[in-house]
Amino acid sequence: MAILNRLPTRDRLLGFGLEVEGDCVLCESNSETRGHIFFQCEYSKLVWQSLLQACQIHRVVMDWNRELEWASAMRGRSFDSMTFRLIWNCFVYSIWRERNCRIFSGAHCTGQDLIVHVKEIVKLKLLSMLHNGNRTINMDFCIAWGIDV
Ligand SMILES: [Zn+2]
Repeated sequence: MAILNRLPTRDRLLGFGLEVEGDCVLCESNSETRGHIFFQCEYSKLVWQSLLQACQIHRVVMDWNRELEWASAMRGRSFDSMTFRLIWNCFVYSIWRERNCRIFSGAHCTGQDLIVHVKEIVKLKLLSMLHNGNRTINMDFCIAWGIDV
């Protein structure tokens, strides 16, 4: 849904003629578009930058199209490719979930809390993946993320 730009972001809802507020609920200072909410918003940029650093990837956060290109280039079934795709998907899912929590339940998660949450999901999914097949494991990554293999 996110990749196809079918998420009901506020810019799209406004485009459909619905009466909704247009501001991003994560930073409350920009219009909510897909590009903004995932990689340009200060909140999500901080989360993504921290996740990249935790993967020893030292680069700046790019815009939606370039981040999608980067994730799409992670092909194959190697540990690193699968792990980066998993982290990207967990990040996008978690940002959208946080946005919905703020709108529909008023709950609020700090950027630091969200980073911890994404890492926990990734760790659990990786553990399950690793126990279900023989893969070459990136031990440096597992140690850095506290994954006991
Ligand atoms: Zn924002």
